[in-house]
Amino acid sequence: MTKVYLNKKINPRIALGHPWIYNNEVDRIAGPIEPGDIVEVYFFDGQLAGRGYINPNSQIIIRLLTRKREEIDANFFYEKIKTAWAYRQQLGYVENCRLVFGEADGLPALIIDKFNDYFVLQTLSLGIDIWKPAIVDALKKIFTPKGIYERNDVPVRELEGLTQVKDFLTDPFPTEIIIKENDLQFYVNIETGQKTGYFLDQQDNRRAIKDIVKGADVLGAFTYTGTFEIHAAHYGAKSVLGIDISESAVAQANKNAALNKLDHIVKFEAMNAFDLLKKWGKEGRKYDVVMLDPPAFTKSRNNIDKAVTGYKEINLRGMQMLRNGGFLVTSSCTNLVSPELFLETIQMAAWDAKKRIRQVTYQSQSSDHPIIWGMENTHYLKFLIVEVCDR
Ligand code: SAH
Repeated sequence: MTKVYLNKKINPRIALGHPWIYNNEVDRIAGPIEPGDIVEVYFFDGQLAGRGYINPNSQIIIRLLTRKREEIDANFFYEKIKTAWAYRQQLGYVENCRLVFGEADGLPALIIDKFNDYFVLQTLSLGIDIWKPAIVDALKKIFTPKGIYERNDVPVRELEGLTQVKDFLTDPFPTEIIIKENDLQFYVNIETGQKTGYFLDQQDNRRAIKDIVKGADVLGAFTYTGTFEIHAAHYGAKSVLGIDISESAVAQANKNAALNKLDHIVKFEAMNAFDLLKKWGKEGRKYDVVMLDPPAFTKSRNNIDKAVTGYKEINLRGMQMLRNGGFLVTSSCTNLVSPELFLETIQMAAWDAKKRIRQVTYQSQSSDHPIIWGMENTHYLKFLIVEVCDR
C-alpha cells in the first residue's frame, strides 16, 4: 500500500479527528497511486494518521476511513453500516432515517437514506464510489431491501471527475413509495423527488410545532411535499396554506394532504414565496403561524452576504404577517451560515420589522444526522421557533 507523508506544519484538524486532507498538506507520496486507491497516511513525525482513499484530481486529496492499520475491504463497509444502523435503532429511528451521514459516520462522502424497505444512496467522491458494490451488498445482508436506488445526480461529483447519474442498484421497482412519519403518511418519489426524495433531517422539528398550531391560521412557504403543513393540520390548525415554487412539489403536497384526509384544512399553491410574502405583507394579510423552510441560499463563501440578505428579507416579512403574539417557525440549511449568524439575522429582521421576539425552541437536524464538533459541514440545519410581539 502506498504511503503518504504529511507536511510538518499543518492544521491540527487532522490530528483532532477531521478526515479530510488537502493537497497542500501532503509532503510526499512514496509510491504509485491510482485515483481511488487506499493509501496509508503518516504525520511528519512518522506517527500513523490512518488509512483512506486518495484522489489526486480533487482538492481534498485524501479522506481518511480509519485511524487504525486495518484492512479496508467489503467487510469494513459492512461493519461500518451495521454500526451506523445500531446507532439509529438505539435512538428510535427505525422506519425512516439517514442511515449513513458521511463523515459523521466515518464514511466520508457516503449518504444512505432508509425509507422503510427502500434505500437511496449517494456516493459523492471517487474513492467511495468505487466501493458502491460492497455497500449495496452490505445493505442486502443487513436488511431485506425491496429496492436500492442511487441519486448521484449531484454536481459535486464532477469535482471528483465523476459523472452525474441516477439509477436502480437492484432490480427496478416503482419509485413512488409511502412512508410513515409521526402518525402521518407521505408519498416519496425517490427517483424524481428533490435530493434523495424527502427531507428526513426535519423529522423531529416537524413535531416541535405541535402546541403552537392549535386553532391557528398557518402560512407555510417553501413547503416541498407539504410535510410541515400537513403536520400543522394534523396537530389542530384551523387553516393551512402552503406555498412552493415547484408545480410538481405542490401536486405531491396536495396528494399527501388527501392521503391523510386533511385536504379540507390544508391547501397548497405554486407561487414564488419571495414575491408572495412581499405582496401579501403589503396587503396586510395576517396569520397566527408563519413557517419558512427555504433551500440553501449559497454553497460558496463569497455569497454568504447574499444568503443573509435573503434570510433577513423572508423572516422580516414573515414576522410582519403575524398577528400579535403569533409564532414564526424558521429554518436554514445553508451550511455556510453558522447558527450564530442565523440567529443574529433573525434578530436584525425582528428589529427592522419593529417586533419583539422570544425564543420558544431552537434545535438542529434530527439525531440520525449526528453532528461532529469540528466538522462544520455536519452541523448545517438551524431550526427556530420564536414568539413575535408588536413593539
Ligand atoms: N419544508 C420541506 C423542505 C423544503 S425544501 C420539507 O420539510 O420537506 C425547499 C423548497 O423550497 C423546495 O421545494 C423548492 O422548490 C422551494 N423553493 C425554492 N425557491 C422558492 C421560491 N422562491 N418560492 C417558493 N418556493 C421555493
